[in-house]
Amino acid sequence: MNELDFDIGGDKLREECGVFGIYDLDGGDVASTIYYGLFALQHRGQESCGIAVSDTEGPKGKVSAYKGMGLCNEVFETEHLEQMHGNIGVGHVRYSTAGSSTRENAQPLVLNYVKGTLGLAHNGNLVNAPQLRKELEYTGAIFQTTIDSEVIAYHIARARIGTPNVESAVAAAMKKLSGAYSLVIMSPRKLIGARDPYGFKPLCIGRRDNAYILASETCALETIGAEFVRDVEPGEIVAITREGIASNREMCLPDPAGEARCVFEYIYFSRPDSAFDGVGVYRARLQAGRFLAMDSPVEADLVVGVPESGNAAALGYAMESGIPYGTAFVKNSYVGRTFIKPKQSSRESAVRVKLNVLKEAVAGKRVIMIDDSIVRGTTSALIVNMLRDAGAREVHVKVSAPPFLHPCYFGTDIPDEDQLIAHGRSVEEIRQLIGADSLSYLRMERLKEMAGGKPICTACFSGIYPIEPPQEDIRGSYER
Ligand code: SF4
Repeated sequence: MNELDFDIGGDKLREECGVFGIYDLDGGDVASTIYYGLFALQHRGQESCGIAVSDTEGPKGKVSAYKGMGLCNEVFETEHLEQMHGNIGVGHVRYSTAGSSTRENAQPLVLNYVKGTLGLAHNGNLVNAPQLRKELEYTGAIFQTTIDSEVIAYHIARARIGTPNVESAVAAAMKKLSGAYSLVIMSPRKLIGARDPYGFKPLCIGRRDNAYILASETCALETIGAEFVRDVEPGEIVAITREGIASNREMCLPDPAGEARCVFEYIYFSRPDSAFDGVGVYRARLQAGRFLAMDSPVEADLVVGVPESGNAAALGYAMESGIPYGTAFVKNSYVGRTFIKPKQSSRESAVRVKLNVLKEAVAGKRVIMIDDSIVRGTTSALIVNMLRDAGAREVHVKVSAPPFLHPCYFGTDIPDEDQLIAHGRSVEEIRQLIGADSLSYLRMERLKEMAGGKPICTACFSGIYPIEPPQEDIRGSYER
């Protein structure tokens, strides 16, 4: 959610996707609700988006779908939504980490097969998608995309032929999948939600009157005026029908201690007004700031956050330390994806287009600047420099995450190790590179506490992967 993630400084991570599904039992059209739901999830993916809807009372194979490259408000016109009739549907926003950024790879995927039509939207990356894809290709499957979501869709469609219902087919497919996936699936008469057994990515259930909703984040429920019902549990499959919500937990881990929620959802990806598995994202960020204040105190006059996701942690730091919280940056919210990125030499001016320092707030002060992460370090160095130019006497950088050291194979676009500033460097060396007076990171031991004590994935910081990582880098492997 950090507004600097337009990659001006090449220094922000991206989440892969957001998913949304709805089934209106009263038969109302759902396309425009999906559109607003996707709007609330736009921070999870800005490259492409799409909607597919169907009528549970209509012919089994009839689906209207529309997708394209760009933000929701760039892709959809009023007439697209008006022409999509149906009371069940799924939607998706995407940023590509596996499979290239093309319209063919946009989701939802719509698949016609012997039992009717499936619409599928997926958030996460599979670690065994290349093998599964190869196996399918050897048995004659022809793929239209290069995304692993199509591998999932194929497996569900195949399994459906030998299973009594679509949720059993999803369970059968899940036995073959390894990696991160939160799925919303529309079958002719059912809306299905599923989460991988580790629960890497969020997925929640909501309700508005007689309509049930599945969404990546709870903020999307509020946007459409729905009530939060509960989270889909790691490994759980839910089937929403006229009879209500049926749950299948056969794929849940026998011991929930092995679950591995992506801790970066709390630190950065999710919107602060969302809750992930019962833990408020805003509260988690406040807590991270408090921990920083406890573990690495420093004397200063002002605590500021790098907007947006650094702000809550900065407030937490201020509350714990008693040092006043303030605003040091004014951002320009109108720098969109199509911003013409300058060459390396003028990156500083590019950051200035996005972010300005409030001179009168920082001049002559010892400033603590809180950011959610340092990836390559380029943006951090520029912002520290901007604070000094504006007259800050000292700049102390605190990061509300541990140092990034390892790649993610579960759907987060962490660059190769040699591009990570923390790789092979001490904290002191990084401090020197970004030009700060002091630098400290959130301690590893604090992460689980920050996430409300839930079992989490910390692999990009610790190198301890909850699932055996692939031997080679699988990201983009189909293209290769
Ligand atoms: S490796 Fe990092 S970014 Fe990837 S799922 Fe684990 S915590 Fe999240």
